Amino acid sequence: MIDPQDVRDRIAPRILVAGEPVAGLRHVPTVDPSTGAPLADVPVADAATVDRAVRAAAAAQPAWRDLGVPGRRRLLEALGAAVREHRHELAMLDALDGGNPFPAMLSDVERCLHQFVTWPAVAGMTGGATIPIDPRDLHFTEYEPFGVVARIVAYNHPAYFAIKAMLPPLVMGNSVVLKPAEQTPLSALRLAEIAQEVLPPGVFTVVTGGAEAGAALVGHPLIRRIGFTGSVATGLAIQRAAAASAVKHVSLELGGKNAMIVFPDAPVEAVADAVVAGMNLDSCAGQSCGSTSRVFVHEDVHDAVVAAVEQRIARFVPGVAYVDGTAMGPLVSAAHRDRVAGYVAAGRGEGARIVATGADPGLSGGFFQPPVLFDRVEPHMRIAREEIFGPVVSVLRWSSVDTVLAQANAVDYGLTGAVWTNDLRQAMRVVRGLHTGYVWVNDVSRHYWGQPFGGVKDSGLGREETLDELRTYAEVKAVNMRTRW
Ligand code: NAD
Repeated sequence: MIDPQDVRDRIAPRILVAGEPVAGLRHVPTVDPSTGAPLADVPVADAATVDRAVRAAAAAQPAWRDLGVPGRRRLLEALGAAVREHRHELAMLDALDGGNPFPAMLSDVERCLHQFVTWPAVAGMTGGATIPIDPRDLHFTEYEPFGVVARIVAYNHPAYFAIKAMLPPLVMGNSVVLKPAEQTPLSALRLAEIAQEVLPPGVFTVVTGGAEAGAALVGHPLIRRIGFTGSVATGLAIQRAAAASAVKHVSLELGGKNAMIVFPDAPVEAVADAVVAGMNLDSCAGQSCGSTSRVFVHEDVHDAVVAAVEQRIARFVPGVAYVDGTAMGPLVSAAHRDRVAGYVAAGRGEGARIVATGADPGLSGGFFQPPVLFDRVEPHMRIAREEIFGPVVSVLRWSSVDTVLAQANAVDYGLTGAVWTNDLRQAMRVVRGLHTGYVWVNDVSRHYWGQPFGGVKDSGLGREETLDELRTYAEVKAVNMRTRW
């Protein structure tokens, strides 16, 4: 493991606009969730800085567009190579700043490295069409970049989200201004420094700050396309603000309250492994949009599944994110830890039974929340309806497929769902019956790049991780050419 102290000593957060550091900004501390201690003072972009960043991006965009796919591909592949060289540093910044264990953050960076190659490789395949209206003329469509695209992302996978967010608009010929979450700004700022060595100035800019900086970006007159990852409340605020400023394209990757439905024929040990894997404890202490948070277990196997999950959860003792062997890290902030603890208290207060908690870590200062397994949860309880975004899972018992589907769908969210059974007929009934954008059969949590990821209902608008995502970062121009007088 790279030495955390070495990485910490080199942290020097700054906003670069067209390669130049912005001076005179207010700074706020970012905190190490493993200790609660301040890590670094981070600049807060005011409206004037956001405006400078967007204008620099707009100035850089035409030349970037005119490089064409081969030119952009060369530079983005070179950026991928530079990111590969810095992957340990980026992962350690995320472990220090966000509290997720270093191995998980390294795996995050490593699993998106291919995107520096594959996105540019498929950008030339986005197409456009020749429309056979009149054989004497020519009717065709072209994809044209928007100009400057704004990307605003959440805190749970900082470097991964920054990389995943910047590439699709960039390969389509847009420049990008990205705002990371205020809790975890360091890896994105470092990424911008690395990018500065490879990409033309202004093509990729990172501005830090919170809601105010995000709102300045959303409302900026030169921004016509916004891609957002975060909570439903912020997604709604962005839709409203975008609509109030101009006609803008907005895509939203929002929260989830994800259900896993277990049939009595599913193997208990595999189900228990999947429940724990679906909680994403080792990668982000459950702070993932796609985490399993409601497990509907058929009454015939209920007791066996609960006992098997209980055994597994007890192994997850939270610890410091950048120490070897840490099973799971802290939550991102004291406020979020208190929020999650509030849900645990609410569940107990409403009559759910706590079956297991991972042991208390006995460390002071950090924002640790051991994992919690709730049994005897009823659909009306808050822990069964609201997104907790932490290491808490609820078990609900079922006996009728119609009823369990109705209960699984009785939330405002619709991101992911899973069904566990060997019975293909039942599996397909649940797949078709679940109101979600992504479904697993005998699987959980995994993303398959090339499969469209996104939510229905309040979980979002639009799909990512597929060729169609690229097309959303361009507008269609229909060209009608008469070839005769
Ligand atoms: P958040 O909505 O609080 O913040 C997300 C980003 O929006 C941050 O960068 C924040 O500074 C910015 N922001 C806040 N107010 C804004 C405003 N008014 N205008 C513009 N930007 C603003 O979310 P969070 O707490 O960072 O992340 C947790 C949420 O994100 C959860 O609900 C989770 O499910 C969701 N999430 C969804 C996905 C997905 O792919 N569907 C992935 C990760 C996280």
